[in-house]
Formats: sequence, C-alpha cells, structure tokens
Amino acid sequence: MAYIITRLCVDCKDTACADVCPVECIYEYKGDDKSWPNQLYINPDECIDCTNCEPACPWRAIFEEDEVPGLFGPDTELNYKMAENAGDFEVATIQKGAAPTEDQIAGNFAKYDYEP
Ligand code: SF4
Ligand code: SF4
Repeated sequence: MAYIITRLCVDCKDTACADVCPVECIYEYKGDDKSWPNQLYINPDECIDCTNCEPACPWRAIFEEDEVPGLFGPDTELNYKMAENAGDFEVATIQKGAAPTEDQIAGNFAKYDYEP
C-alpha cells in the first residue's frame, strides 16, 4: 500500500508534501512528454506509508491508495507509471507557496467534479 497524489495537485506551486516526506519519494517530471500532468507523483514502491504528506497537502490532493476517490482512479495508475519511468523524474524541489483559501480549494474540487 502507498499514498497517491491525484489530479487535485495539478498546477500547484506548493511542495508541502515533499517537505515532510522522510524518504524523498515524491517526484516531479523532468522529461519532454507533455502528456504527463503538471503535478507531483509519489513512487508507490518507495513510499513507507508514514502518513505525513496527506495532512500536509493544502489542496487535499493526497489519499491513501485504498481511499482514492473513484473518479481519480487513473491517477493511481499514473503514480505507478511514474515508478516504471523513474529515469524521467527527480525528487521534487521544495518551493513553498501561499496556502490556498477555502474558496480556492472548493473551486479546485469543482473543476474535477469532486465532492468530498
Ligand atoms: S506517506 Fe510518507 S513516505 Fe509516503 S509519500 Fe507520503 S510522506 Fe512520503
Ligand atoms: S502539497 Fe499537495 S498540491 Fe502541493 S505539490 Fe504536494 S500533492 Fe501537490
């Protein structure tokens, strides 16, 4: 089991998750394939289930694998696909951003038809 980053992370400029990960298993894509969404990814093979990242994510984009909402199912596959293409990824650089407002978080949920 592992934690998974979903599309709720897309275009996020914060890396609060990576800042609290004790094993540096949260990555950013560094390749040329534009089909990879602009988000961070957890390498499920390296995640030790410490739980730190889930509450640290201001956009509530991280879920335990068993609890990923159904409409984000493909995102679980993307995190695993990241592990298969690890050579195109680097450990995420920490770059702190401003915390989103509740309205911004709700707007991001609505963008993906997600109702927690
Ligand atoms: S659960 Fe822990 S080890 Fe796994 S990605 Fe999150 S912070 Fe890293
Ligand atoms: S803290 Fe959340 S939204 Fe920010 S980079 Fe990590 S997973 Fe994405």
